[in-house]
Amino acid sequence: MARIVFVNGEFVSEDEAKVSIFDRGFLFADAVYEVTPILDGKLVDWQGHFERLKRSLTELNITIDFSEKYLLDLHRKIINKNKLNEGIVYLQVTRGAADRDFVFENTLKPSLIIFSQSKEIIKPLLVNKGLSVMTSQDIRWQRPDIKTTQLLAPSLLKMEALSKSMDDVWMVKDNRITEGTSNNVFIVDSVGKIITRSLSHDILGGITRAVILKVAKESGLEIEERSFTLEECYSASEAFITSSSIFIRSVVRINGKLIGKGKSGEIVGSLISAHLEYCKSHLT
Ligand code: PMP
Repeated sequence: MARIVFVNGEFVSEDEAKVSIFDRGFLFADAVYEVTPILDGKLVDWQGHFERLKRSLTELNITIDFSEKYLLDLHRKIINKNKLNEGIVYLQVTRGAADRDFVFENTLKPSLIIFSQSKEIIKPLLVNKGLSVMTSQDIRWQRPDIKTTQLLAPSLLKMEALSKSMDDVWMVKDNRITEGTSNNVFIVDSVGKIITRSLSHDILGGITRAVILKVAKESGLEIEERSFTLEECYSASEAFITSSSIFIRSVVRINGKLIGKGKSGEIVGSLISAHLEYCKSHLT
């Protein structure tokens, strides 16, 4: 069934949705986006996603006059019009349309599109099939902390992993892991301490990452935010990734080497429950 999507002020069927070929999002990836998870037809941690959207726009000097209430209302309308119970709502803001030129005017009218994707989140989370990842050079531009639509490098890396029967790539910069193609990465050391790279220009500040750190702290787990090497990954007792569309997933193999016992571990199990509880009490 065709979805109802939102494009520049209008709700239309996905078959009729159009954006200009001169849109700078299309020509220059001059655009930012957010993916908000939906559970029970409600948004999970909307506030975090809205705050990050504002940050991304500020970093690129894109000025919008959409209020938080307007954007939240559009998300709710998309959920209702598409009878979405579980999945994600995708929002993209571009700088707007102008004749193709590297130079742009600050007066362009930003484009706004929003659509939904129905997707199971809870079931695969509870199954938590351990993933296999490979490592590869982080070949992205140097500001992956801004959530832009420049996603060709991670997309090609992920395709490479799939072609080798692996699930994803952990990217490496200066001998340290940065993040997954579309997720933040964590390892658990031999004494149960959770290690994850600290926030900087090198990684996206994941909304799920922030919540996981919060619930881990509340559960009395020790956390260290610092960069780590591949060798540390190999000697970790557990490893996992987080993102809004999967929440948490154990990683049980890195470059073919088993991590810990080679299956989903206790700490990830406890974080899955604690995080889910948090999400269910932060629905908008
Ligand atoms: N890092 C990258 C590169 C990502 O693309 C994503 C998901 N968009 C994340 C981390 C996780 O962020 P979040 O938890 O906000 O989905």
